Amino acid sequence: MSDGKSHAGSCFCGAVQFTVGGEPAAMGYCHCASCRHWSAGPVNAFTLWKPDVVKVTRGAEHIGTYNKSSGSSRKWCKLCGGHIFTDHPGMGLIDVYAAVLPSLAFKPGVHVHYQESVLPIRDGVPKLKDVPKEMGGSGASMPE
Ligand SMILES: [Zn+2]
Ligand SMILES: [Zn+2]
Repeated sequence: MSDGKSHAGSCFCGAVQFTVGGEPAAMGYCHCASCRHWSAGPVNAFTLWKPDVVKVTRGAEHIGTYNKSSGSSRKWCKLCGGHIFTDHPGMGLIDVYAAVLPSLAFKPGVHVHYQESVLPIRDGVPKLKDVPKEMGGSGASMPE
């Protein structure tokens, strides 16, 4: 169980184990085509963390990395194929998929890349056309 300060996560088979500590920098949903294609799902629920609070505690040797673009190092377990996180070195943040952190209370604050959405989600949470200005986007919002 979590002590409220750290959360344990794992890949699908459990060979890769990791923890995150403290509070995430941001949480939300990404609707971009890359997230959908990589996850084979209609949307990616992300939680962003500073790299120093993401610690792989077991099975680091089983982690595979794929870089389709320089901004994203996508990580998965080479034994089971389960996705674990995406390192965004340019942002200085790691996206640990909400789905692999069962004890974290997921509180989405934003939807990003909503213009690419294939699954409209009318939850009242702000919808950004792409990403915030401070992340190099337009920062423009759009209707649900
Ligand atoms: Zn695995
Ligand atoms: Zn995305």
